[in-house]
Amino acid sequence: MLFEKGPHGRDKVCGDGLTPRAVAALEELKIDLSPAHRIDGLRMIAGKKTRELLWPTTDRFPNHGAVWPRHRFDTHLIDVAIECGADVHFESEALPVLEGDRVVGVRSNGESWRAPLTILAAGAQGAAAKLVGAERDPNEPFGLAIRAYAPTPRHAERHLEACLSLRDEHGTPVPGYGWMFPAGDGTVNIGVGALSTMKGFRKLNLNALLDTYRAQVAGPWQLGPYLERPRAWRLPMSSRRRHGPGWVAVGDAAGLVNPMNGEGIDYGLESGMLASRLFVEDPATAPERYDRAVGERFDAFLATGRRFSFLIGHPLILRTGLRVAVGTQLAADITLEVMGNLVDTDAGPGGGGLSGRVLRVADRVLALADPVLRRTRAAA
Ligand SMILES: Cc1cc2nc3c(=O)[nH]c(=O)nc-3n(C[C@H](O)[C@H](O)[C@H](O)COP(=O)(O)OP(=O)(O)OC[C@H]3O[C@@H](n4cnc5c(N)ncnc54)[C@H](O)[C@@H]3O)c2cc1C
Repeated sequence: MLFEKGPHGRDKVCGDGLTPRAVAALEELKIDLSPAHRIDGLRMIAGKKTRELLWPTTDRFPNHGAVWPRHRFDTHLIDVAIECGADVHFESEALPVLEGDRVVGVRSNGESWRAPLTILAAGAQGAAAKLVGAERDPNEPFGLAIRAYAPTPRHAERHLEACLSLRDEHGTPVPGYGWMFPAGDGTVNIGVGALSTMKGFRKLNLNALLDTYRAQVAGPWQLGPYLERPRAWRLPMSSRRRHGPGWVAVGDAAGLVNPMNGEGIDYGLESGMLASRLFVEDPATAPERYDRAVGERFDAFLATGRRFSFLIGHPLILRTGLRVAVGTQLAADITLEVMGNLVDTDAGPGGGGLSGRVLRVADRVLALADPVLRRTRAAA
């Protein structure tokens, strides 16, 4: 049984980009990707440098991604769920019902439902998360991003475009990126996202940041006017808890967003699949096993990502890092693989090739530097 507070066909503010990792998760779910716009790689822009990259070839993930506007993508997913037997209640906000510290089900529209496992899949933390103590950790970074749709003759291109050298309207470097994600339907998803680790984050005006970025890309993309008002939302990158007696949190509700690229769809899919598989095996022990399994799969990478985000909160480090990241084609390829969490870590302890080695070194160095990074964080 699924409760959705929005109507059938609700939209979600998003860049709509699916990495090969997300495509792999959708393929595992046997979702037909033919309505999505196929994407072969990423055009990475930093200052005057542009690198055109193909998705890496690994044994674990396909070599293609996609752009699938969330309005259509999410509707497709929920319709598949309904076809598979899910009992979906739309326009039904649900809140967990607690008996002591155990979640025994939910309450929605004045009615209660009891369940052996309740899955909190409510997105960036709100009222439901608060009730079970699954709020964002205030000591960890998070992101904010804004997006709009605009017509462009380049809508059918098969590369995502990311401008890593983003600056606000005063010329201050912003840790984050501006994106142009062509949707293949006459439009492009244009947006900008920023990490909370930058100095002056609280004063950052996302609309102005988007306007500045738009001015930069409008010419080359022959952009038309926005089709709707730009909309912004949060990207949670931590959660105080992601399980407890009778419940687990998945996706954004569990803070599962990659701090290195803002990707969250894949993490929502993967954690959701894990939760349901473990529930089917044994509802009673599912929460503990889920927490362990999610931890094994994501915690080390996401911790490295959060440390990285403290690092690039410093403008000098950000500028130097960007120069290295796009300095050569090889460095850019490694950056794409590492930041997209596309390194084939299943290939064993020494696996994943050069990118695997870079990731392991980054893990170790950033873990050692963690206390300093947090102490010297650029004050908001
Ligand atoms: C501007 C922006 C751009 C982004 N771009 C990308 C991108 O290109 N690629 C990518 O992978 N990720 C991107 N992300 C992140 C991605 O959008 C999220 O990580 C992803 O949507 C998380 O999925 P979710 O199912 O956990 O939460 P959501 O997609 O937020 O879904 C949660 C659902 O729960 C419903 N809900 C909330 N509370 C309740 C309640 N109490 N009862 C019932 N229903 C409730 C909401 O209405 C919503 O439908 C972006 C995020 C932002 C803000």
